[in-house]
Amino acid sequence: MDNDCLFCKIINGEIPGDKVYEDEFVYAFKDINPAAPIHILVVPKKHIDCLANISDEDEKYIWAIHKAINIIAENMGFKENGYRIIVNSGRDSGQEVMHLHYHLLAGAKFGDKIV
Ligand code: AMP
Ligand code: ZN
Repeated sequence: MDNDCLFCKIINGEIPGDKVYEDEFVYAFKDINPAAPIHILVVPKKHIDCLANISDEDEKYIWAIHKAINIIAENMGFKENGYRIIVNSGRDSGQEVMHLHYHLLAGAKFGDKIV
């Protein structure tokens, strides 16, 4: 928990978030400025600033995020059609919120492939 972190505040209810999923390790909510018809942010309940700084003790959070993505995809009905995951980490990526988050994008066929 980081008192100055926007996503920590959403996780603990200080700031409202449009929650779509929660378990012991993960919190997921709708992005306030969606870049796709479905745009969800999947975050660990532990404050980890970016993917570049994960450690062995964070393993359970990272696995839980991946499981949660598929549970959300199943629940919201886009698992079969597919989805795109984006994780920005660090300055060059343009990461704005320094609490690790997986962008889960779905509901459209994404044309422009970077990779
Ligand atoms: P990034 O650029 O990877 O750090 O992504 C940060 C994301 O957080 C952006 O897509 C924002 O639209 C989103 N965001 C910022 N504030 C909020 C908020 N209060 N609730 C939900 N999403 C937010
Ligand atoms: Zn945080």
